[in-house]
Formats: sequence, C-alpha cells, structure tokens
Amino acid sequence: ILSVENVTKTYQSGSRKLTVLDNVHFSIDEGESVAIVGPSGSGKTTLLGLCAGLDYATSGSVILNGHALEKLSEDQRAAVRNKEVGFIFQNFQLLPTLTALENVMVPLELKKRKDAKTKAQELLKMVGLADRSTHYPTQLSGGEQQRVSIARAFANEPKILFADEPTGNLDTETGTIIEDMIFDLNKQNGTTLVLVTHDPELAKKTNKIIQIKGGIIQEGQYV
Ligand code: ATP
Repeated sequence: ILSVENVTKTYQSGSRKLTVLDNVHFSIDEGESVAIVGPSGSGKTTLLGLCAGLDYATSGSVILNGHALEKLSEDQRAAVRNKEVGFIFQNFQLLPTLTALENVMVPLELKKRKDAKTKAQELLKMVGLADRSTHYPTQLSGGEQQRVSIARAFANEPKILFADEPTGNLDTETGTIIEDMIFDLNKQNGTTLVLVTHDPELAKKTNKIIQIKGGIIQEGQYV
C-alpha cells in the first residue's frame, strides 16, 4: 500500500543544506502495522509527512495506494489525503475555532456526506466523548483532544493511518486507551498503521519496526 523508493529530503536553511533523509527505501503491505523508531532529529516526522503526502520529497518516489505523490499537484495530493489517509499528530492539530463535533465533521463534510453530523456524533461516542461535543479544544484535556483527533482520523475511514507519537503527550492510562483504539482499527478493519514512537513497548506491538538514524534506514533493524 506504501512504497518509498530512494527518497531523499533536503531542507534549505539560509545558505546551508541539510539532508534529513538520505536515499530511504522500504515498502509496507496493506494491513501491516509498522513502527518508525530512531533518535531525536533522525528524520522520523519528516518521513511520516512525506509518506502521508503532507510534503514533497526532494528526490525519489512515494507511492501511496497506487498514487505516485511527486507527480501530483497540491490539490490532487489533498484529494488523495482526504480519500485514503488518516493522520494523528503529536500536538493534536485540532482547529481551535471549531467544537469537538465540528472538528470531527470536517473530513465528513469534505466528502459531502449528508449524515456528517450523525456520523461525527457516533465517532465521538466511540472515543468516549459524547458529552464533550460542544467543547472547544481549549476546553478539553490533552487526552480528550487526542481522542477527538482520533475520531477525526477515523472519520475518513482511512486505508492507512499515520500517527506521530500518538501517546507521547499523554499519561499512561490515557495512552493505553488511545493505543488500543489505534490497534483495534488495524486488527478489526485492516487499516494499515504507520506510527512514529520513542516508546519501545509500543513499537513491539507492531509487526514491523523500521529503525532510522541520521536519515538512513539501519540495515538489520528492519524486521
Ligand atoms: P524527534 O524524535 O525529535 O521528533 P524526528 O526524528 O521526528 O525527531 P524530524 O522532525 O523529522 O526528526 O527532523 C529531522 C531534522 O530535520 C531535524 O534536525 C530538524 O531540525 C530538521 N528539520 C525539520 N523540519 C525542518 C524544516 N522545515 N526546515 C529545516 N529543517 C527542518
């Protein structure tokens, strides 16, 4: 479902060129759960963003469910994201001017679903937040915001879910609830799961670990 072929990513800051990903190559099959691990600054978040079509690679190819992302315009990439991808960010990235319910409705409205409101209510109920639907993000705890962002990611019925440190900012108990939700989606719906984590226990629950260091995939750590 995802094929990353000889991908290099270079950031230009002033006159300096920084190569964050250097000729990265791997693929992920439909239904797999994969953890991307590695030290801070090794390029994990950058890699996840490229795979999810949030940014372009400097060279190489990312093929997401048959779409070669580098060949698409920004609008076409947005359409692929809306159709195929769910994304859970480390810092939640909820829209601050929208309530919990409205945040979950965004992807449903993009798909022009007439039942957007009912479906969003169901999703909030699923994550245990039926009674918080009119709250704005600032009126929710960190764990609650993360659950809203999960409901929003699930609203897409994504083929592939990308999660960047989904439990990084949460206490252990809330983190476990969130983890279970994400892995349930993988096991029950066959949604492919790609997550970035520093937590070795979380990485062990996936069926493949991709270790990255200094922008290079570590041979032998690709299990
Ligand atoms: P962490 O585990 O600390 O979140 P990471 O492995 O996810 O780190 P990235 O966020 O992918 O690492 O960043 C990799 C490197 O690229 C870092 O050195 C960072 O400073 C640099 N970098 C990231 N985004 C940009 C940008 N937009 N412009 C310039 N440099 C950037």
